[in-house]
Amino acid sequence: MYQIYSIIGKITITVLVLLALFLIMSLILGVMLVKKHRLLFPRILLFTVDTFYLQFKRIAHIFGLSDRIVDLIGIEVRNNLNERKFARISPDDRIVVVPQCVRHSNCPARLDSRIGIDCKGCGLCIVKDIKAEAERLGYKFYIVPGGSFVKRIVKKVRPSAALGIACYQDLNISMHEISRAECTVVGVPLLRGGCVNTEVDVKEVFRKLRLGIENIKDETNKLSCSGDKSET
Ligand code: SF4
Repeated sequence: MYQIYSIIGKITITVLVLLALFLIMSLILGVMLVKKHRLLFPRILLFTVDTFYLQFKRIAHIFGLSDRIVDLIGIEVRNNLNERKFARISPDDRIVVVPQCVRHSNCPARLDSRIGIDCKGCGLCIVKDIKAEAERLGYKFYIVPGGSFVKRIVKKVRPSAALGIACYQDLNISMHEISRAECTVVGVPLLRGGCVNTEVDVKEVFRKLRLGIENIKDETNKLSCSGDKSET
């Protein structure tokens, strides 16, 4: 009996040591991605972030890193893996989701249970510009009060692609959940978190919004031009 317990103990310790080494290796890869923009073994990184989320955060903490780095690794890997596919999807099959905390504290918009917060375009915050650009490009635009609302929208609209904006942790978790719904997701983390007046890199939001759209429009124009010619 003692021998059985001894074997189980040795197996357990071996598994824990191997897991710790795996997490440390993933952390090194993740730091290389975040600091040096070098992406190696992205699937392994994504597996680590998605499967060992809490343990990965603990390892980062042990090495004196902010546990936010784990969320940033998840976001960066998904952005790198998904941007090309995202760019090939038609804008009218894409959605953009903005968190309510980006709004101005005096925002006059109210929550609509079907579509989220209905921006009035008052111009007190940057949401007005993001919404205008998203809709000009053909996106469906939503301001959401939380992660569960995002899931509800994705379930209802069934987009092929989504651009999300949120704080690091919410964005990483939402990107993971949305990608399971067979939706190609990219994201922009907030520069400054909080409950209201949070800050977002608008240039990066616009860059991601426009991914592939000029190409798609060019292709559509070419098709319609050749269609016109064949009719004449
Ligand atoms: S622009 Fe829209 S979201 Fe921003 S404060 Fe005005 S109504 Fe609210």
